[in-house]
Amino acid sequence: MQMETPLTQHIKANKPPMNLKEYEQAGGYQALRKVLKEMQPQDVQKIIKDSNLRGRGGAGFPTGMKWSFVPLGDDAPKDKYLICNADEMEPGAFKDRLLLEGNPHQLIEGMIIAAYAIQANKSYVVLRWAYKEAAELIFKALAEAEQAGYIGQNILGSGYALELYLHTSIGRYIRGEETAHLEALEGKRAIPRSKPPYSAVSGLFGKPTIVNNVETLCCVSHIVNNGSEWFKNLSLNGVGGTKIYGVSGRVKNPGTWELPLGTSMREIIFEHAGGMKEGFRLKGILPGGASTDFLTEEHLDVNMDYSSVEKAGSRLGTGTLIILDDKTCPVGMVHNLEHFFAQESCGWCTPCREGLPWVEKILLSIEEGKGKLEDLDILSFHAVNLGPGRTFCALAPGAVEPLQSSIKYFREDYVRHINEKKCPWR
Ligand code: NAD
Repeated sequence: MQMETPLTQHIKANKPPMNLKEYEQAGGYQALRKVLKEMQPQDVQKIIKDSNLRGRGGAGFPTGMKWSFVPLGDDAPKDKYLICNADEMEPGAFKDRLLLEGNPHQLIEGMIIAAYAIQANKSYVVLRWAYKEAAELIFKALAEAEQAGYIGQNILGSGYALELYLHTSIGRYIRGEETAHLEALEGKRAIPRSKPPYSAVSGLFGKPTIVNNVETLCCVSHIVNNGSEWFKNLSLNGVGGTKIYGVSGRVKNPGTWELPLGTSMREIIFEHAGGMKEGFRLKGILPGGASTDFLTEEHLDVNMDYSSVEKAGSRLGTGTLIILDDKTCPVGMVHNLEHFFAQESCGWCTPCREGLPWVEKILLSIEEGKGKLEDLDILSFHAVNLGPGRTFCALAPGAVEPLQSSIKYFREDYVRHINEKKCPWR
């Protein structure tokens, strides 16, 4: 079956992305022209709402609904902001990089349309510092777009004005958290804010602000051009759209693919990623990056959409699967993940600051053969007490997802470490 891949159709491996002229020839900036000529901001919000587009950064919040929280009208604050969170740092996630390096104008067009929909007058692409190639490409594309009158004053004669800047992030995981991201953009230490108020009402400098992920914003021009029904029908069960899935681990062909939202894990891992490398067996799957619960072989027929993955006991997250194989120690892998999360805790709230290093130390002692059976109870205690509602933001609850599910599915491997007083994989 011929599959539509609107987000990646012009992205070719090892080829530079389209320049402005090529992008326009491929139909680029037509959606922006249509929006500025024919649509009110509320019309744009409606088409995005009707399309069922949900945030692709990890949390999956409905995009059109988020935009609709921004106050419009005469009484609304004059300054409003649209921010693209391009600080991709979830371990296992490398999908936004594909879009940033592959077609920067697609992102810029989506951002201008999104900014118009919420009547923002300033916008920022906040980019992960390590994405140096993307930085150069976006910088060049922004200059081209400004030169052509797509950014700046009186865009395409519509009276609408937007400034759009590239801002390079300092590269900390906590900047994936929206309010910490805003603090850092204001020049402060990146720590989360208390919510509510949500950023749509009080965000950057206390003004209404929408933060959207790269992949989310890249969908926008296609929805405007083709309609919300078209977008819904791209997915396998009306959920809305395609998804850039990725697979890493010991598979034959690790990579990223744009597929209908709701494609099964089996198809992603065994058809697109080519299945396991010779001599390796699939043992576990983190379906949405490092901060999601493990699933196992029995879940291979689960569809990778928001509700199906939740029903199976995990989250779609970023849609980038990390595969655990039978020749990798699950305790060692979880220790590695918890080391990352403990290091990336901003230290603002006590459970996260103190709890994650404690978890990391226990896992290391089990891995080194020094663990006790009671350690499993302490780890389970932390999995609850660092869970949802116990900390200031989603970092620690996300961090304990692979921990709690590894104890559920790989408990006997933990017990073997303790009984054998060594790592059975070494
Ligand atoms: P969240 O659910 O608190 O918020 C998600 C978005 O929805 C935010 O924009 C928030 O403002 C909005 N929102 C939520 N409830 C709202 C309400 N009632 N009213 C108005 N707006 C509302 O999630 P979060 O803490 O921002 O993000 C956590 C996710 O981020 C996790 O899934 C994690 O995996 C992911 N993450 C991804 C990366 C990456 O590299 N892509 C990095 C770090 C974290």
